[in-house]
Amino acid sequence: MALITGTDVVREYETGGETVRALEGIDFAVDRGEFVSIVGPSGSGKSTLLNILGLLDTPTSGTVLLDGEDVSGMAEADRTDRRSETIGFVFQSFFLVPTLTARENVEVPRLLAGQPDETTRRATELLERVGLGDRTDHYPDELSGGQKQRVAIARSLINQPDLLLADEPTGNLDRETGDVILDEFGAVCEEEEVAVVTVTHDDYVADYADRVVELIDGSVVTGEDAEHPQGGARA
Ligand code: ADP
Ligand code: MG
Repeated sequence: MALITGTDVVREYETGGETVRALEGIDFAVDRGEFVSIVGPSGSGKSTLLNILGLLDTPTSGTVLLDGEDVSGMAEADRTDRRSETIGFVFQSFFLVPTLTARENVEVPRLLAGQPDETTRRATELLERVGLGDRTDHYPDELSGGQKQRVAIARSLINQPDLLLADEPTGNLDRETGDVILDEFGAVCEEEEVAVVTVTHDDYVADYADRVVELIDGSVVTGEDAEHPQGGARA
């Protein structure tokens, strides 16, 4: 069974008396451990789809199943619980807390979980895992853009999610650093057995992802096997 599936998912926004149909009734499925990249022009519905995958939003119509459980009509509080148990997020702008060290930033999603020693141990391990073992006590403004994004990846993994969602994670990085970050997602996907879904403008993401889903005007135009013109970085 797929980790998350969507059937005939429609999302409409009402603004100023007008209805915008951001998703036109799409079907999708993401398997455990799979690395899927969503591409498409600005306004094609990528962030809308990611928000639905992340249980931050629900479809206007259609069904979303997480681990076989219908989450499309679930109450907000229940969705929030399922989200914190299951899903990690990485954003274009990193969203690190400037007054906290790298390690403390990674710990943030577990601050209320108790077991502070275990949390610190895992945060340190995750920072080592993303190559920042020597930067655990550095503050965000002492880190490069790529290092900040690696801290954000470590933070997204602290609760051992099944699904990691990233909206334009390389958008603020140069190409070379973006490559390193996409490589990191690929490694995380394999080693942490987490499904990764990234949204990106970068066409070279096809070299890293197992599968590319292209959205245009709220519809999926491709989504079968990704082309791997150079054989793929993970092939
Ligand atoms: P992308 O991430 O691919 O750029 P979005 O999912 O953000 O696209 O947006 C898809 C469409 O939905 C666009 O036409 C956008 O203007 C519209 N849209 C997105 N969010 C909202 C909102 N909160 N209210 C009204 N329209 C929205
Ligand atoms: Mg977007």
